[in-house]
Amino acid sequence: MCGIIGIVGKSEVASALYDALTVLQHRGQDAAGIATLDGNRLRLHKGSGLVRDVFDQTSMLALRGSVGIGHCRYPTAGSEGSAEAQPLYVNSPYGIALAHNGNLINTEALRREVFEDDRRHINTDSDSEVLLNVLAHELQIQDRRQLTPDHIFKAVAGTHARCVGGYAIVSMLLDYGVLAFRDPHGIRPLVLGERDTATGKEYAVASESVALDILGFRLLRDVAPGEAVLMTLDGRLHTRQCAEPAKHAPCIFEYVYLARPDSMIEDVSVYKARLRMGEKLGEKILREMPDHDIDSVIPIPDTSRTVAGPLAQILGVPVREGFVKNRYIGRTFIMPGQSERVKSVRRKLNPVGLEFRNKNVLLVDDSIVRGTTSKQIILMAREAGAKKVYLASAAPPVRYPNIYGIDMPVTAELVAHGRTVEEVERMLGADRLIYQDLDDLVWAVRDGNEKLADFDTSCFSGEYVTGVEPTYLADLEFARSDDAKSQRRQAG
Ligand code: AMP
Repeated sequence: MCGIIGIVGKSEVASALYDALTVLQHRGQDAAGIATLDGNRLRLHKGSGLVRDVFDQTSMLALRGSVGIGHCRYPTAGSEGSAEAQPLYVNSPYGIALAHNGNLINTEALRREVFEDDRRHINTDSDSEVLLNVLAHELQIQDRRQLTPDHIFKAVAGTHARCVGGYAIVSMLLDYGVLAFRDPHGIRPLVLGERDTATGKEYAVASESVALDILGFRLLRDVAPGEAVLMTLDGRLHTRQCAEPAKHAPCIFEYVYLARPDSMIEDVSVYKARLRMGEKLGEKILREMPDHDIDSVIPIPDTSRTVAGPLAQILGVPVREGFVKNRYIGRTFIMPGQSERVKSVRRKLNPVGLEFRNKNVLLVDDSIVRGTTSKQIILMAREAGAKKVYLASAAPPVRYPNIYGIDMPVTAELVAHGRTVEEVERMLGADRLIYQDLDDLVWAVRDGNEKLADFDTSCFSGEYVTGVEPTYLADLEFARSDDAKSQRRQAG
């Protein structure tokens, strides 16, 4: 997953882009970058690390211009590090910079097509570079002398027709403005906002509405699945439905874990969706353990805090802060190898002993992926003196890989893959493990917007809305395994 932002403003935008990236930082901490349009020059600065580490005063001052795009990256395909930091740039046609959140699943076929038919060279393993070149080619074949919004939208339609997967794109065309679009299923999120200034309207698009909030942009709406929005340098907004109608299936994992609670996605408050997840999970626990002996509900910080409140209320027990998180350490998932991951859970969370001593506790997490976090935490709770340790997950068992831009481990590393709930319970060492049902999770989100008929729930159900070749999944297994990742790291 990644965070993207694009602004067509009336005055300098670099610091607004920087601020937006800092509130999208949870979507990717591997690399960050900003590109701006400074007359007919494109200014670009990017690098590995957190937003605050990538930019300094000198690089910010060089990012001149009132139009720009930004990206923070969590690697989902290709290798980690600065070589594939975004925005990416191609000089022809016009000069295009592009930032991408998501993942294409026909990258290899496209890579061949782009080379053999479009005669373009792709220099990295990144699917984003492939997508950028597809868009460039589709723009190239339009009428060059007089590029109109119509030509640009035709190029997006061509890109939609060729690129399969989950993607939200923000790009910048020199001399033209910012072009943003979403995949035909609307899997990855993208919102549109506007702001009034003394000299006219400014427009922005972002992965999450929280980025618009902090910049003082009004959230207008989500960019529709398969829609493109073009914000031109003259301050106008053009929009067009470019892709053939397809099943709208926003990623449900955004609501479970990825997005910030203060964001609105598809007109659904992420915060309220999480409250409803807690409600449904509480009801299920009460059904399964009507005479429960739970003394308190302890959220595993931070995401599951929102879930814990209503859950505890339904069970009639208090919520307690049993773990204190060291906020100066990154997400444990980010650690490369398994042994590092285990160590960093301990570094990140420390138990408050008195909340565990002689108590039966129900720990609640937003999701269980590898199970590393839960296993360690259950052990920590026992060491701190808990009598019984129950575990509840606000998401159903994660059993299948995500192919639309969330970095999920390979199937073999997913603790619930090929295992029953009882088997996972034993693996994790819990006295009882209760997962949210998928129907309840869907209800929790849809209750915020009845119009949402479908979701991408593939990591729970194994059903992929775009369809997927079995060979793609097999290749992915190899590319994402810890072994493959460490081989890539050694190779430099
Ligand atoms: P684990 O079961 O040890 O793999 O970790 C699960 C925890 O990681 C959950 O508590 C989530 O908060 C978090 N998590 C879930 N999915 C992801 C992801 N794709 N990237 C980073 N963290 C994640």
